[in-house]
Amino acid sequence: MTAEKEISVLLSDALNLVNIPLAPAATMLVYHRIEGGSAPLQPDSVTLTEFQEQMRYITEEGYAPMTARELAALVEAGEEPPEKSVVVTFDDGYLDTYTHAFPELDFFRMPATVFLAAGHIGASTPFPWLGSDGGKPMDWQQVSKLQKAGIEIASHTYSHPFTPNLTKNELCLELERSKGTIEDKLGAPVHSLALPYSFPMRHPRWPSFRARLREALNANDYVCCCTMQRGHIRPRDDVFALRRIPVGRDDDLRLFRAKLEGCFAWTAPLQAFYQRFLKSYPTP
Ligand SMILES: [Zn+2]
Repeated sequence: MTAEKEISVLLSDALNLVNIPLAPAATMLVYHRIEGGSAPLQPDSVTLTEFQEQMRYITEEGYAPMTARELAALVEAGEEPPEKSVVVTFDDGYLDTYTHAFPELDFFRMPATVFLAAGHIGASTPFPWLGSDGGKPMDWQQVSKLQKAGIEIASHTYSHPFTPNLTKNELCLELERSKGTIEDKLGAPVHSLALPYSFPMRHPRWPSFRARLREALNANDYVCCCTMQRGHIRPRDDVFALRRIPVGRDDDLRLFRAKLEGCFAWTAPLQAFYQRFLKSYPTP
């Protein structure tokens, strides 16, 4: 990560020096935990202080924040998103999305999209895939407060499985149960999905998975689907495989700026190579 960080920051500094911005069309950021304590952070966690600085940076630098659904609508229509479009997203539905992120989103009037692993919301134990010191989920009352404040509440499946291993019917059921549960609890429609875990679009199993996924998304009236594949978003991208940029514990403000400026996307082929040739995946 250090080399990726240093190169991204150097690239950003150099491009700013010669005033040649990369200006990506739109950036969808993905957060997991926003931690308040002084304990060592997980790679995909940020501290509350860092999160505050990042939301302030987005606001003061004139970015155009919107929800995932709003950006997907522009992408689908082939419209150019406004300059400096950014979407702040949160995966899983951690309690600290409510206790730490929400007050900041509210303060900065920042639109956001929260993807819930719906079957775990309201549980008193940490999300099971994280181990005993993982984060606990929100309850439905807290989710409802986010939604009433204008935050888009969306689906991250029901049980948070490794979706490429699911059959067509299993995948459809995950998307249906998650959407149905959130809609029942909140009385508002769900439009967006984020896939749990990361699965490379260049994997030999991607085309067949993508076909099953499209079918399940269409059958359940989803309008967009976000992935963990790194990159920015352009008009006419596939709204069912939107790329995002992760934010984590290495993101000081210099790296955060580099990510928003398009200076981190060069790592996407490295991610693809690692995932395609070095990483192993659970077998069906
Ligand atoms: Zn997740």
